[in-house]
Amino acid sequence: MIKVYKFGGASVRDDVSFRQVERIIRDASSSPLVIVLSAMGKTTNALELVASAAHNEADYSETLQGLRTYHLNILNALFPRQNEVFAQFEQAIVSLHATLNTSRELPYAAFYDRVVSYGEKISTLILHQYLAHRGLPNTLLDAAQLVVTDGPFRKAVVDWEVTKRNILNCIEPAQLALWVVAGFIGSDKQGHTVTLGREGSDFSAAIFASALDASELTIWKDVPGVLNVDPNELKAGVKFDKMPYNEAVELSFYGAKVIHPNTIKPLENRNIPLFVRPFSDPAARGTLISSDPELHPLACSIIRKKDQILLTLIPKDMSFISEGHVHSIMGALCDLGLHINLMQSSALHFSLCLDNGTGIVDGLGERLGPTFHIRYNEHLTLLTLRRFSEEDIQLHTRGQEVVMEQRSRIMYQAVLKD
Ligand code: ADP
Ligand code: ASP
Ligand code: MG
Repeated sequence: MIKVYKFGGASVRDDVSFRQVERIIRDASSSPLVIVLSAMGKTTNALELVASAAHNEADYSETLQGLRTYHLNILNALFPRQNEVFAQFEQAIVSLHATLNTSRELPYAAFYDRVVSYGEKISTLILHQYLAHRGLPNTLLDAAQLVVTDGPFRKAVVDWEVTKRNILNCIEPAQLALWVVAGFIGSDKQGHTVTLGREGSDFSAAIFASALDASELTIWKDVPGVLNVDPNELKAGVKFDKMPYNEAVELSFYGAKVIHPNTIKPLENRNIPLFVRPFSDPAARGTLISSDPELHPLACSIIRKKDQILLTLIPKDMSFISEGHVHSIMGALCDLGLHINLMQSSALHFSLCLDNGTGIVDGLGERLGPTFHIRYNEHLTLLTLRRFSEEDIQLHTRGQEVVMEQRSRIMYQAVLKD
């Protein structure tokens, strides 16, 4: 049965990692395989800088030249000089220049998607040619033509029916073959390129796995699997061997950056197992996320989501918080596309913890200012502990002021001031 493998930026960040990707793909050559690929290394970050500078008519030439050199160095290490990939790469750079020059008048989000999607267009071109050069024939698919969305730019919402039909028209799940396709990219109904949101390649991989009813999705990462804590925060984390889908949804929803939050649900709906495995050690088992309800080992998960804002709404007329108030607050959040991470109410206060961003206070002030006094506090962190003990709470809140907290039997959450 067909499998889907997803490789992130770290797995194609240099020539050595491309060779490792090749080894992993060879090991899977007895099954039909779809490879979903991210942009190489930190290319998307650099393209974001280019897009923003170009839109503001600022100079982006150095960043763009740096990106070109970075990719060329990898090409030189992987291919003989006469390989056609060099001309194709230069063609992509010319086309990126043209986009930067001719599409600047577009609204920023549309311009951003057009520019930033070049990261994946280029990485997939290189992997496609590299695998062919190494004797692994493969078909390069255009993600923009397959993943159809209803927009909006920068966080497009997938039209599952059309997307599934498109994917099944191009990929024959029973055919022993290899396909390469970009993550992160789709198009809207007018055919404009859109993106699915930062880190969206994991989600793209789930879209392909779901459409194809794949036997598994494997996401290759630069970590041993899903750990109970971000290794950048605490080195001595515990790796989960197995985890139920709903646990993975909770972890990613509250900010565990290892998997994009939209990835799990489509897999759960079709009961497709998700393996999160270490790219550097393909023999290791990693983490299996599936319908098996057992979480193993039963470690406390620790997630910190930074850049939070805590807003407190107080009715101006000194009335109690009513259902009517809550209704107008939710309506405003919904219209402004804001998502609540944590909320709490008392007789006179309604508090909301959200990801901070420009325009939130002004936007809510405009809508809710006539009815509520609005107080807010920025630069906060949302701490989430799952399967906590009192010692875990002590340990992970030590030295920080707890501004708001909430707990259930399984989950403890606190908004912390650093
Ligand atoms: P990719 O580019 O392959 O999508 P990401 O950088 O998006 O990879 O995700 C992998 C990173 O997620 C790891 O390098 C690690 O720093 C981070 N991370 C955050 N929380 C966790 C966690 N609970 N378990 C494992 N990795 C985590
Ligand atoms: N390249 C995109 C990003 O860096 C998508 C992804 O890697 O998942 O956000
Ligand atoms: Mg990622």
